Amino acid sequence: VTWRTELVERHRRLFYAHGYEHASGYPSVGDGWQLIVEKAFKRIEAAVGKFLRKNPAASVHVSQIKEKLGGLRIYIHTVGLPARAEALVQDAVDLAEARASCTCEICGAAGVLHDHAGWYLTRCERHAEGEPVPAQHGEADLHIQFKFVRGKMRVSRCRRYDRERDAFVDAPLPPDETWAEGD
Ligand SMILES: [Zn+2]
Repeated sequence: VTWRTELVERHRRLFYAHGYEHASGYPSVGDGWQLIVEKAFKRIEAAVGKFLRKNPAASVHVSQIKEKLGGLRIYIHTVGLPARAEALVQDAVDLAEARASCTCEICGAAGVLHDHAGWYLTRCERHAEGEPVPAQHGEADLHIQFKFVRGKMRVSRCRRYDRERDAFVDAPLPPDETWAEGD
């Protein structure tokens, strides 16, 4: 039994929300991200567990937990959640993805994105393959969110992920980006 199977069993309500025979969201990421994924699901259960028990028509379904372009992706489909719970689920996912982007997928130590002949991997120095990828805006821990405003993609939020505190802090926008007008 691996941590992946245990995760799915511990959170059956989220993985089998649609009554599938097999959990489609079975995690396919490396052991270095185990604690990150587990913490995300503790946060999600804390946000929605009570509500789901009282509201059988509502659901939270994990459809994928995977690595993509060196980063963690957790895809969750929700039905009938209050806005507050919806935001907490999104926060849990955002924090996990931000932490994974600076955590070695093999061992869990602090890491950075590497380019291994076109394969993107987040790795510590010991497990490094290929070359470190220079961070966008010179800062790897910067997380910029975008949204469409009058048909144009604009920045809506700029945050820095603080690995020590496992939290986001608002950050000034890099000079090469522009804020959405009136935002
Ligand atoms: Zn490592």
